[in-house]
Amino acid sequence: MTGAPLWGRAFHWSRALPRYQPGHAERVARVRERLHRLAPLDLAGAAFDGAGVSACVKSGREVARRVLGRLGMDPGAPPRGQPTRERSVRG
Ligand SMILES: Cc1cc2nc3c(=O)[nH]c(=O)nc-3n(C[C@H](O)[C@H](O)[C@H](O)COP(=O)(O)OP(=O)(O)OC[C@H]3O[C@@H](n4cnc5c(N)ncnc54)[C@H](O)[C@@H]3O)c2cc1C
Repeated sequence: MTGAPLWGRAFHWSRALPRYQPGHAERVARVRERLHRLAPLDLAGAAFDGAGVSACVKSGREVARRVLGRLGMDPGAPPRGQPTRERSVRG
């Protein structure tokens, strides 16, 4: 691209994405440690493990795996009432 832009505008979304305070990771680890003593309860999402959709998906998957593990369930098993992949492919 060459030439100067014809126009430009900057937007500042002051409350758009979380900006973690120093020590965030340690704080989240401490909270998770305390939660571990309670029912299978955990934290996932942009407030904890990184902003952005891909970080949130990763966070949600990891937490789901941990919670299922704490419930003694197989994280790799299909959800109850759902057909397995083989069955759904065959119809
Ligand atoms: C303007 C904007 C643009 C973005 N663009 C991008 C992008 O291009 N690419 C990218 O990777 N990321 C982008 N992001 C970031 C991404 O959208 C977020 O990081 C991600 O959606 C956060 O997911 P989350 O599940 O943690 O929280 P959220 O998606 O905010 O989900 C939280 C949910 O909890 C619900 N909720 C809140 N309080 C309660 C309550 N008390 N009881 C019950 N439910 C409640 C809310 O209604 C909401 O549905 C953007 C964010 C913003 C704001």
